[in-house]
Amino acid sequence: MIRLHDTLAREKREFVPQDTKRITMYVCGPTVYGRAHIGNARPAVVFDTLARLIRHEYGEDSLVYARNVTDVDDKIIAAAEAEGVEPAVITERYERLYLEDMRALGVRDPDIAPHATREIGPMIALIDRLVSSGHAYSAEGHVLFSVASDPDYGVLSKRDREQMIAGARVEVAPYKRDAADFVLWKPSAANVIGWDSPWGRGRPGWHLECSAMIEAHLGTTIDIHGGGLDLIFPHHENEIAQSRCAHGAPLARYWVHNGFVDMGAEKMSKSVGNIVTPEELLKSHKGETLRLALLSAHYRQPLPWTETLIAQAKATLDRLYRFLLSPPKRTGDANPDFITTALGEDLNTPLALSRLVEMAKFGDAEGLKRAGNLLGLLQEAPHDWFQRKAHNVELSANATAQFSAEAQLITSNERFDQLIAERAEAKKNRDFATADRIRNELKAEGIVLEDGPNGTTWRRE
Ligand SMILES: [Zn+2]
Repeated sequence: MIRLHDTLAREKREFVPQDTKRITMYVCGPTVYGRAHIGNARPAVVFDTLARLIRHEYGEDSLVYARNVTDVDDKIIAAAEAEGVEPAVITERYERLYLEDMRALGVRDPDIAPHATREIGPMIALIDRLVSSGHAYSAEGHVLFSVASDPDYGVLSKRDREQMIAGARVEVAPYKRDAADFVLWKPSAANVIGWDSPWGRGRPGWHLECSAMIEAHLGTTIDIHGGGLDLIFPHHENEIAQSRCAHGAPLARYWVHNGFVDMGAEKMSKSVGNIVTPEELLKSHKGETLRLALLSAHYRQPLPWTETLIAQAKATLDRLYRFLLSPPKRTGDANPDFITTALGEDLNTPLALSRLVEMAKFGDAEGLKRAGNLLGLLQEAPHDWFQRKAHNVELSANATAQFSAEAQLITSNERFDQLIAERAEAKKNRDFATADRIRNELKAEGIVLEDGPNGTTWRRE
């Protein structure tokens, strides 16, 4: 059984899909104009873990998971102007980098990745329906959603009107009937990306794309709608209003929101400038370490991002991989229920992780690997985990002395292998002076080389 905290109901509810053979989940994806930061990675990792759980419970093909790509937006237009390129150059570049970063964190690509620029038709059709049913109006090239026309507006965020206007940071514009009304379509100047529409050449407002793409790809009512806490208002509130007013049915049956990643006392955000990116972190840490760090707090709680958090995540994985490297001969309990019951309780990843560590005490290697897979962890060959350089570059002061010694050993082993390769190359080029120098250098470190028919091996004296 899976229970999920539903933001709309304000409580945990048993997850009952509409159709267990086609469970639908939509998560608001990136606006692609710059590198993602680790706060942006949290929803990707959280909903990837939820997707793994659903597929485990209902079957590999039971879930259709869609995550959109916002590829038309004022920030994109500004970035393109700054570089003097077409917006598509910016969006293609940063979408590719986003996917690379997320894959490095063990995030599987969603089943569907709708792009706003490829779905203008369904968006115009949706606006058309809202205008003809009196929920939207056009003025000065804009089309606006009339908040006053929707008596249920505010149902998700439960804000009063004043809070809503403050929260949306809305501008009072002459073309708006009401300050709370939000843009569905806005005009584009001749040199700015745009599409023809019944209201003139322009481009969609941000909230619109999700409503239109959910309907086009997943249906009028989906099972799970997810995203970061910051999207509840105004983005998801507006999605709900647009969709319900257009087709009368609720947009989603469960609303799931993840908390922020904090840097110091503040939420990590580009506008504050306190960001750290997977790109930087992956230079000195493995993707699984960052993934475990992101899953170490419950998804609804804030997650303070610190060096200690990363060091702890790494120490946990080192311990688990060391177990896999030389597992004791056991027929232990490989029952993945140990993990799924924790995840089923509103995706309790801290509990699931402590159970994973527990399993290394009584379980077997295969069972542990299967359990790790549910969390997107333990996907590497144990030998590779300890070999790869990225892992050993920056040892945190908090790492254990035991591990430092182990790491040093591995690093020097790698160096020996490299020197032996250099020596072989030198011999091939008949550069015997270099070959002898390498041999003597290693000998001084207590390493003896033995040349054989299958190449050179080394041993400690
Ligand atoms: Zn959205």
